[in-house]
Amino acid sequence: MSQPQKLYEGKAKILYPTEDPEILLTIYKDDATAFNAQKRGQIVGKGEMNCAIAAHLFEFLESEGICTHFIDCPTPNQMRVKRVTILPVEVVVRNIAAGSLCQQTGLPLGKVLPKPLVEFYYKKDELGDPLLTRDRLLLLELATPDQLNQLEQLALQVNQSLIAFFQRCGITLVDFKLEFGIDTNQQLLLADEISPDTCRLWNQGETDPEQRVMDKDRFRRDLGQVEQAYQQVLDRVLAQEGSRQKAQSKRL
Ligand code: 5GP
Repeated sequence: MSQPQKLYEGKAKILYPTEDPEILLTIYKDDATAFNAQKRGQIVGKGEMNCAIAAHLFEFLESEGICTHFIDCPTPNQMRVKRVTILPVEVVVRNIAAGSLCQQTGLPLGKVLPKPLVEFYYKKDELGDPLLTRDRLLLLELATPDQLNQLEQLALQVNQSLIAFFQRCGITLVDFKLEFGIDTNQQLLLADEISPDTCRLWNQGETDPEQRVMDKDRFRRDLGQVEQAYQQVLDRVLAQEGSRQKAQSKRL
């Protein structure tokens, strides 16, 4: 059977149509980029690791009542997802100061924020994904006022669930980026991926600011041991999901 024509190829994933117009197939790639694709490389096994991590996190979030585009994984680096129209907005949630928040505000790395900070960025590579104000977002009609409120509420809900999940893995959820899409019923669904590519994750068993990094910052900052860090995250997520599902089946 010949491979269908790809719909879209991004930096970390390729999207294919399927026989069902409501379902798309995502192939997770080993390719890694940073700094708006100025830095490029490969993280061996990343496609399969991120696909598995994202699948488990989407399943967990669904169990917490959050609607996602996830359907299933036919092979280790493939994910079937519901077709959505992606909103051109990246929603970033921060619990601890790191990355661009430190660079742009002078807050010290590692400062625990008094409450989660939700930010919106314009998903537009040509402009370098700039930070948006609410009014700019509405001016550009990137979302309706209702959708904007919904995005913020959903992002905070995802944050609460993921903080608790990663806590049980011995991992601190520093910050992360989400993308949302609208399905044919006009429902807002959590889309894209949640993985060490899109989150900052710190190992609670390490205090050294470089040793503790378990995410794409290892690649961005040339810290080495990138594959091992992703594998560690996957192992802990799998162990946590296993015990969660066991507890759930006992309750049934
Ligand atoms: P920062 O704004 O500090 O660079 O990123 C904040 C968080 O959002 C980090 O966890 C980072 O991984 C994620 N993030 C922000 N923009 C992007 C993006 O374009 N691609 C990916 N993979 N992650 C992003």
